[in-house]
Amino acid sequence: MAPADDWVVRTAGLVRAEGERRNPGETPTCASGISPSGPVHLGNLRELMVPHLVADEVRREGAPCRHILSWDDYDRFRRVPAGFGEEFAEYVGRPLSSVPDPCGEHESWAEHFKEPLRESLDRLGVQVTEISQTEMYTGGAYTAQIVTAMRRRADIDAVLGRYRTRRAADPDPDPDDDEPRPGAYYPFRPYCAACGRDDTTVTGFDDETTEITYTCACGVREGPTPIAHVAGKLVWKVDWPMRWAYEQVTFEPAGVDHSTPGSSFTVGAELVSEIFGGEAPLHFAYSFVGTTGSAKMSSSRGGAPTPADALEILEAPLVRWLYARRRPEQSITLAFDAEVGRVYDEWDALTRRVAEGNADPAAQAIFARASGPAEGPLPVTPRPLPFRTLASVADITAGDQAQILRIVRDLTADDPVDDLDEVRPRLDCAQAWVAGYVAPEDRTQVREHPDPVRLAALTDEERGALKLLIDGMAADWSLDGLTTLLYGVPKLQRGLPISAPPTPELKAAQREWFILLYQLLIAKDTGPRLPTLLLALGQDRVRFLLGG
Ligand SMILES: [Zn+2]
Ligand SMILES: [Zn+2]
Repeated sequence: MAPADDWVVRTAGLVRAEGERRNPGETPTCASGISPSGPVHLGNLRELMVPHLVADEVRREGAPCRHILSWDDYDRFRRVPAGFGEEFAEYVGRPLSSVPDPCGEHESWAEHFKEPLRESLDRLGVQVTEISQTEMYTGGAYTAQIVTAMRRRADIDAVLGRYRTRRAADPDPDPDDDEPRPGAYYPFRPYCAACGRDDTTVTGFDDETTEITYTCACGVREGPTPIAHVAGKLVWKVDWPMRWAYEQVTFEPAGVDHSTPGSSFTVGAELVSEIFGGEAPLHFAYSFVGTTGSAKMSSSRGGAPTPADALEILEAPLVRWLYARRRPEQSITLAFDAEVGRVYDEWDALTRRVAEGNADPAAQAIFARASGPAEGPLPVTPRPLPFRTLASVADITAGDQAQILRIVRDLTADDPVDDLDEVRPRLDCAQAWVAGYVAPEDRTQVREHPDPVRLAALTDEERGALKLLIDGMAADWSLDGLTTLLYGVPKLQRGLPISAPPTPELKAAQREWFILLYQLLIAKDTGPRLPTLLLALGQDRVRFLLGG
């Protein structure tokens, strides 16, 4: 049972109660909105994960809950994102669903950016009901609401005006509204019938006949035409509350930038009841998502990392966990650098605590949410070896599958892994991480040949240490055996038993000894853990490089 101060449980309870109060007997709705104007990054994933966790909690409690993903694909194409050719500049001002696909395999620009997010949501177990705003607007779903908004334009303008005068600089500008249009206020922006762009100015609207007239920067003068036959959309600050009423949204969070005083949520909350006869959804702001070390080594593609990038190096439950373990007001940082090893270690420790029944109720609730949605847990790696170990193995072997299997067998000598599928998908994540995010100078390059200069300069003590290792390693060629031997060599040289406790002097001697091995094996002073490195190299190669 999750603690009462758990924000997911609390919000799920509110969603059920509010849903029942507003629309008795109907399924409550949690909502997310995404603009497919460019790559959907990990910050946008929070827009989906927060409502997902709440809707999922309602379902866990045995009640139905709808989670809608509203694709803002009828928004104007505002600018060509970095990394895309200037040939797209001519489409600025058209709906995202009318801009050509940059790769040639999708129906449109919007579809091109929807697909990777859709795939990631599927892998994360996030089930949504997709709603295309292009389909809704062009299919006439909102015609009555548009007519209402146009007839009530003076009231809408008055509400907006109160916030305009209160704040000189709009903290949350309308994405449809790069600059205010001159003339009377109209909350509807036509897409020009001739050029398809929204460089239009409404010049009149007949409240009786619902006929609209407009001009366009391209020179066209259109109308009077019934507004039902005119392409276009409500401006964002009116569009959002209209959809709250239309979809009976019970809960919709938003990024902090949409939640400041005078922002679209505050304005929308007034408009939804005054104009559209609905109620504002339950709402709170969620904080930012940052990343560390996300610059990919092997790719020239810039830009913020996407959920697909995260899923390449993190098992799906870990991605869910990184979002589920923070309260909405806390920011989230996703690591793509060496920290990723620590994240896996923490997750493995939590998994063990839960399995042993030692996790506190809060941790247990978060673990359950991370493991998968209400429908059931997501697939896991059957034999979850430590990520850092798998990353070292991937690094040392440069991805050679036969070598990896040999090493993984040696690493699990007590109960050997006999098929690499037992360590997948974690192994694939480790390989992708090493290939994508470890700098070339940090990669391990095993020497092709022994280092004659260093071997010729060995002291008697160093030569003795190498002999102890070479003569002793075959006796227990396993992770544990090699660990004991490697730490034990300086002890044996001092006439101490191999189990002698460490002293400062011994520790210093061990450090020197390990540096010698790294230099002889990989021509560096540090590297992957030595027992793993030795297992990876195999006895013949170790003997060859150590001059034995
Ligand atoms: Zn495409
Ligand atoms: Zn035009």
